[in-house]
Amino acid sequence: MKEIVMADHAGFCFGVKRAVDAIRGALERGEPNVWTIGLPIHNPQEVERLQAMGLRVAQSETEVPAGARVFIRAHGESRAVLKALRDKGAKVEETTCPFVSRAQELASVLSEQGYHIVLLGDRDHPEIRGIMGHVNGSAVTLDVVADEAGAEALPRRGKVALISQTTQREERLAAVAGALVRRAGELHVCNTICKATVERQEAVRALVGHVDGVVLIGGRASANTGKLRDIAEASGLDVLWVEDAGELEESRGWFDNRGRIGIAAGASTPEWLIKDISSKIASM
Ligand code: SF4
Repeated sequence: MKEIVMADHAGFCFGVKRAVDAIRGALERGEPNVWTIGLPIHNPQEVERLQAMGLRVAQSETEVPAGARVFIRAHGESRAVLKALRDKGAKVEETTCPFVSRAQELASVLSEQGYHIVLLGDRDHPEIRGIMGHVNGSAVTLDVVADEAGAEALPRRGKVALISQTTQREERLAAVAGALVRRAGELHVCNTICKATVERQEAVRALVGHVDGVVLIGGRASANTGKLRDIAEASGLDVLWVEDAGELEESRGWFDNRGRIGIAAGASTPEWLIKDISSKIASM
């Protein structure tokens, strides 16, 4: 038997829960033609459940039929995608997380005010693509950097606004801001990292010294789960990252000589999955 130490904040954040509840609600009411563009959350097990209830997932807005009811993911979409959906007669359900909407709005307003926008985050992540799609102006008014080194490589400019992907680490935002201070005549820093992200990161750090290892539960494509892994490892914790209970069996050896197991989970991990995996670990 293992002792379980649950991180203080783990699993669905406010924004993901809000979007998933809206989608599930529509499906439970038997509404037809319920769509998302891309997977609604980075958790394959929860997505399978929603698809079994009737959710249709399009790869892009071009696949969505007229008359579809399209739930916008918590990550948000660009203005161009929203317009294309409305133009083809789809009903858009705006379930973008309000924290992401704030980052989009800042990008829009500050680019209109003549700021060169620097986004801190992963260029290929849907949230960053959505924020990029709210910048008003030509593409030359925008850069995406992944870290301090990326910021160091940027040319010097006049007015610069730094906006972060909501799931970034605060230390990294501070380091990038420090690099940009030397490259801008005026620097406007927007801390758009959301509270749910900070809480989950602090909860992982708080496990140090209390556990013999941490099982991190979350989808492999989940950016915020990846950041939790980085933080846990940087804090000296041994981490086992699993997506579902089936992976525990393959990693049985990891549990040898570990009595107290910490449990952490990304913001897109549903509670039922955390309970399922935790109870299996407890009985190992
Ligand atoms: S991690 Fe934060 S910004 Fe992202 S969906 Fe959750 S609450 Fe919203």
